[in-house]
Amino acid sequence: MSRWDNDDEEEDDDEDIPWDADEPATVVCPYCRAEVLEDLPQCPKCGNYFSQEDSVTQTKPPWVVLTAVLLLVVFLMFVLRF
Ligand SMILES: [Zn+2]
Repeated sequence: MSRWDNDDEEEDDDEDIPWDADEPATVVCPYCRAEVLEDLPQCPKCGNYFSQEDSVTQTKPPWVVLTAVLLLVVFLMFVLRF
């Protein structure tokens, strides 16, 4: 408990977090090592999810939707040909 007392004395009622004031919180992607925003559940560069929990909450992963759209486009191309 004494540790928290020391922290209160040093903070000076400053609500701004010093290391987070200038730039937004970023994390390094473990897959491609790109620096991405912490809020994003998915890496915009390599497309990998940072945690399994975020991907589970989605009913459909992006690749399922992408595959469905591709199949639909191919199907429509075949239909429109004839
Ligand atoms: Zn990445």
